[in-house]
Amino acid sequence: MPAHRSRTTLVLAVAAVLAAGVAAPATAATPTPKSPVAVGFGGAVASIDADATAIGTQVLRDGGNAVDAAVAVAAALGVTDPFSAGIGGGGFFVYYDAKTHRVHTLDGRETAPKTADENLFVENGKPLPFADAVTSGLSVGVPGTPATWAEALRKWGTRSLAKSLKPAEKLARDGFVVDQTFQTQIANNAARFSAFPSTRSLYLPGGAPPAPGTVFKNPDLAATYAQLERQGVDALYDGPIGADIAKTVQKPPVDPASTLNVRPGKLTTGDLAAYDVIERRPTHATYHGLDVYGMPAPSSGGLTVGEALNILENFDLKHASKADYLQYFLESTRFAFADRNRWIGDPAFVDVPARELLSRRFADSRACLISKDKAATSPVAPADPRHPAPCAAGSVVAPTPYEGENTTHLTVADKWGNVVAYTLTIEQEGGSGIVVPGRGFLLNNELTDFSFTPVTPGVPDPNLPGPGKRPRSSMAPTIVLDHGRPFFATGSPGGASIITTVLQVILGRLDRGLSLEDAIAAPRASQRNSAAAQVEQAFLDQPETADLKARGQGFSTAPAEIGAATGVERLRDGRWLAAAEPVRRGQGAAQVVWPARW
Ligand code: GLU
Repeated sequence: MPAHRSRTTLVLAVAAVLAAGVAAPATAATPTPKSPVAVGFGGAVASIDADATAIGTQVLRDGGNAVDAAVAVAAALGVTDPFSAGIGGGGFFVYYDAKTHRVHTLDGRETAPKTADENLFVENGKPLPFADAVTSGLSVGVPGTPATWAEALRKWGTRSLAKSLKPAEKLARDGFVVDQTFQTQIANNAARFSAFPSTRSLYLPGGAPPAPGTVFKNPDLAATYAQLERQGVDALYDGPIGADIAKTVQKPPVDPASTLNVRPGKLTTGDLAAYDVIERRPTHATYHGLDVYGMPAPSSGGLTVGEALNILENFDLKHASKADYLQYFLESTRFAFADRNRWIGDPAFVDVPARELLSRRFADSRACLISKDKAATSPVAPADPRHPAPCAAGSVVAPTPYEGENTTHLTVADKWGNVVAYTLTIEQEGGSGIVVPGRGFLLNNELTDFSFTPVTPGVPDPNLPGPGKRPRSSMAPTIVLDHGRPFFATGSPGGASIITTVLQVILGRLDRGLSLEDAIAAPRASQRNSAAAQVEQAFLDQPETADLKARGQGFSTAPAEIGAATGVERLRDGRWLAAAEPVRRGQGAAQVVWPARW
């Protein structure tokens, strides 16, 4: 479903609610101050939210390490950025360990129920309309986020889960100041949120989204966090919170007066009990002698960013004109996405040729199809990385299916030099739209990241639903090392555009002489093997656009901004730089433990 189409309807719905004269609460309060860039010592935190970032730097100041801080920030985002992430969702955690100089990853992706098969989203022989699948019990996967937090702390943290959740529990109980983004995200979803009394009473109090400047509290979520503190994540995977999740999925608590047809799902407490977070070996690519580590399958993030970087090493982007650089950037992901769509899925179900996708020979065989002067015609066909033939493309095209676009990314570094890049999500903005009654959190709709039917008829699709299977993701938390030491780390939300955003930040920083904050702020484009690349208006406004069009590049303006990246960088003098969006999603929040003059 094109996001802009649904959005128009939903905004109209909210306008109707507001016109009905329901007043928003009017307590004025001062929001926590925020800045998109900070430089200093003692560690750094960058997230989309000021309260979450402040909680992270406090953990670091109190002696916690990057993993402790990352979990505390993520838990806080579950309170202040609940339409993107929370304990009802999943994510991918990438960690650099300063002692061993090694990068580790945790796969906290949601899983399909064990009853799921490839017809999960097929009804009467036809794929369900995307919007129907989103707001349903069918799309809810077993949440991986609580298990990720517990496992990250157990393996690499210094604090208990209880201690790490405390600041977020307090934030949920005492409240935070609503900003425009929070209000808009509710407004965007008001029509479906109002169909569920549990969601409506939390996020549409009195029939309207809370107004910016008012204080928003979520006592149910505070109580849920408190229960996790007391009982551990078993309360969710093998206890009362899980029982409530299963009940909610199987019998979505929809208002009988609602006209929405909300399909139930089959997720059970047994599915929750069977959930495992998985430690996976990171993807690794080298670029200009630097080591780029990312998330392997079931995310396509690390493999696709890595393939594109390998392709791009064939061209001199440092000395290229800006138009040439953008041409190569757009073409690299056009081809890398064709390969991603054909080969990447949950490795427990499909044989993902990961090593081959990242091989230099394969990249060279794809680079050879790229022309500086002429855009290729999409959809281009994938090639077989196991048998790379110079300049040979396959014959069957591989378009990129639609993916929801909302998530959150946080990046943390500590004084010891440990680094975390963590992307977490509930998939679509607002996830399934269903708040678990009495629990204060939204359930994900992550299973809509599966292909509903094979993307190309007659060609195996690695991303069809299956029992216990993890849907393919695009999340791309990335850590770049220079001779084994952290250089910078980054990541972003944005559905499939995460991959192009992360690549663009890396290229901006490494090839185009941009600071990390400028690389994050730069106008974005996302070519995902379609006739027109999705671009921001600011990208189109650049003087190079006409030149790129003359080379055959097509552009369509994204319905909204693309991504919301954050990052941290170790500067040459030993200080940390934290960077977030200066404008997108209402501006992110970067902080360091001990600020230095910038
Ligand atoms: N569900 C998407 C994925 O796993 C993330 C959604 C988003 O980032 O907005 O790739």
